[in-house]
Amino acid sequence: MTFSLDITDSNTRAALASRAAAPQKASLVGLSRAEMAEALVAAGIVPERQARMRVQQLWHWLYVRGVSEFSQMFNISKDLRTALHQHFAIARPEIVEEQISADGTRKWLFRFPARGAGRPVEIETVYIPEEGRGTLCISSQVGCTLTCSFCHTGTQKLVRNLTAEEILAQLLTARDRLGDFPDRDTPAGAIVPADGRKVSNIVMMGMGEPLYNFEAVKQALLIASDGDGLALSKRRITLSTSGVVPEIFRTGEEIGVMLAISLHASNDDLRDLLVPINKKYPLKDLIDACRKYPGLSNARRITFEYVMLKDVNDSLEDAKALVQLLKGIPAKINLIPFNPWPGTNYQCSDWETIEKFADFINNAGYASPIRTPRGRDILAACGQLKSESERLKKSERLALEAMMIAGHGEA
Ligand code: SAH
Ligand code: SF4
Repeated sequence: MTFSLDITDSNTRAALASRAAAPQKASLVGLSRAEMAEALVAAGIVPERQARMRVQQLWHWLYVRGVSEFSQMFNISKDLRTALHQHFAIARPEIVEEQISADGTRKWLFRFPARGAGRPVEIETVYIPEEGRGTLCISSQVGCTLTCSFCHTGTQKLVRNLTAEEILAQLLTARDRLGDFPDRDTPAGAIVPADGRKVSNIVMMGMGEPLYNFEAVKQALLIASDGDGLALSKRRITLSTSGVVPEIFRTGEEIGVMLAISLHASNDDLRDLLVPINKKYPLKDLIDACRKYPGLSNARRITFEYVMLKDVNDSLEDAKALVQLLKGIPAKINLIPFNPWPGTNYQCSDWETIEKFADFINNAGYASPIRTPRGRDILAACGQLKSESERLKKSERLALEAMMIAGHGEA
């Protein structure tokens, strides 16, 4: 069963629309402290000698309290709040849709205003509640330039990179909707889960290739992990890449988050077909970059993601080759049952095959959890994301449901 927020309801719509960002004003969200200070001074509303203090106040309101209106910043004078409002935006994106899966997974479709000559864009963000933690899966691009053959996002052309503000806005808005800013009143209409910490982890595993949008992703993740703000530990942030080798070292050095590699094959011939960026950066270079990842240790392992595709990469020979390939690297192997989407020619491996594969890898000494597919009923699972611009036709949805009922990959 799928729950969908009814945004045709006029009250809900008005409440959400009133929080939608005004496109013409510069946003303070996503700026570093230095950039924020510079913006305040350049706007002529804060004298230089006060800039540091004002940034500190704003930082706290934006990232600890989670407010989305200047009027709520009570320790700032009314005149300054008005001036801030005239010059800057801190509002959330428009929520076009919020879907809640039977298993508690949520998927939002967010709309961001046009930038430059472009059009407004829509992206998806997914929240996955688990025992004792909650993971937010964040998008880095609208669409993707890469064309991994098993990925739904890969069939959508790149529209544009998201800005640091838009990457962070996904986290802030998700926390609003989950009631996850404890020092603040829960916004009207938010549907708050019963218990547990809400967003404790984030993964850059939504739409897009984060390392093709390095600077914005870096800026957003440094703000998300800033100890005086959102304060997520870098160990609870994972960036997943299809293998953009030249940016891997910098990811560790400059961002310092956990790394996941979308491996999916243990030889170049097959990986060229599944993850075509492999033709540019083949396995040898990729594995070499992994060995050199800053901070790598048994306590900070690289996660290798491996999608289980029936009769494609799921034999015991494949498992052996995988173990051989990763020899000596502190690694976890995450087996992902393939999530089907309309138009794909792939099928998910049988459950028995996945378990055999996992056993082999476990016996070779690797933790190899099988990722339980979550939120499939709302197309929120890995690789199923694709935004409104290319939303499924009703006939495609029905076809997908039929695939699931037929047992294709339903674990
Ligand atoms: N572009 C980045 C991050 C987003 S994809 C990357 O490729 O790593 C997040 C993960 O979902 C990747 O490991 C990706 O390979 C996997 N994935 C994509 N499509 C999938 C599908 N249909 N079923 C299961 N996993 C999929
Ligand atoms: Fe892009 Fe990642 Fe999908 Fe490949 S798997 S097409 S890199 S989003």
